[in-house]
Amino acid sequence: MAKRYEYLRFRLPTKQVSITPGVSDLLEKAEEEGIKTAWHRWLEQQPQCGFGLLGVCCRNCNMGPCRIDPFGYGPTRGTCGATADTIVARNLLRMIAAGAAAHSDHARDIVRVLRLLAEGRAPGYRITDSEKLRSVATSLGVPVEGRDDMEILKDVLPILEGEFGKPNEGPLKLLEALAPKKRVKVWEKLGVVPRAIDREICECMHRTHVGVDADPTSLLLHGVRTALSDGWSGSMMATLLSDILFGTPKPIKAVANLGVLKEESVNIVVHGHNPVLSMKVVEAAMSDEMLDYAKQFGARGVNVVGMCCTGNEILMRLGVPIAGNMLMQELAIITGAVEAMVVDYQCVMPAVVDVAGCYHLGSVLRRYLTL
Ligand code: SF4
Repeated sequence: MAKRYEYLRFRLPTKQVSITPGVSDLLEKAEEEGIKTAWHRWLEQQPQCGFGLLGVCCRNCNMGPCRIDPFGYGPTRGTCGATADTIVARNLLRMIAAGAAAHSDHARDIVRVLRLLAEGRAPGYRITDSEKLRSVATSLGVPVEGRDDMEILKDVLPILEGEFGKPNEGPLKLLEALAPKKRVKVWEKLGVVPRAIDREICECMHRTHVGVDADPTSLLLHGVRTALSDGWSGSMMATLLSDILFGTPKPIKAVANLGVLKEESVNIVVHGHNPVLSMKVVEAAMSDEMLDYAKQFGARGVNVVGMCCTGNEILMRLGVPIAGNMLMQELAIITGAVEAMVVDYQCVMPAVVDVAGCYHLGSVLRRYLTL
């Protein structure tokens, strides 16, 4: 069959595309079947925009878009007078805001599940690591002696919910409880101790708007403050609460890569970042009911495999094999062996829907994404 993307091999031989076994073969299969992947789309983007690569373009207000010529042949300031340093610092700050928002919203969703659990409205979930709950509670000054898990959880939750936005000033509680005191002194001296996650993210957007903060140092220091709100509260909270809900991971042996897909099983890939959905998919797939159902259709069983960070979550807690990283999502479908890809959020490429539409799992994925 004629290769639809012959230029790929000519410009970037497939054996050099990835060191991961199987990737070259699957890229060849994709080409034979006329399917574009991230590798093909990346090639189509070449050469990438030099202004974008340097971060010297700005469209933060309607007097723009503006771009700085770093080589001295064009404008050195945007319409408002912003220099290259200001524009680069502003763009970086907006990237930090997006990253902190992503991690911290992940934490917010897990707090929400625990809130529903505490109110008796999440019967599918339970506290798995009571010791971790008690350790977090003690760090936050919540008494644990003689109390059951639900009593403790109900006192811990308002403190964690307040991490996103609280009416009073003062540092984040998790940072105050867990960060090394000597390091906190350094952050205090620099004025970068975060107050609340949402507040720091909101301030990133405010400061980078036209006519607000134009000082690159000041902008970058706020980037440090926002990153700390993520690292010492948002991301930290997501990890601690996932451990409380699903158990604290221990070192285990497992297998990885696309070879974890099984020819005679119903293969389900769980992909994204948050274990709240994927842990339940694994539980359901392991049930006798699902096994019997799969056997009715001639399959040996249901084989759930992970992808990207959701894959890590179920790998480290349940030993579920991981099919690959973010770049493997389209290739897993291109194997033709996957019946469903269940996604939560983050790192889920929009293109995965189109690739899925070329195979028998398309309708399942589309239905899930439009819920
Ligand atoms: Fe141009 Fe300044 Fe507006 Fe950015 S903020 S688009 S540099 S005028």
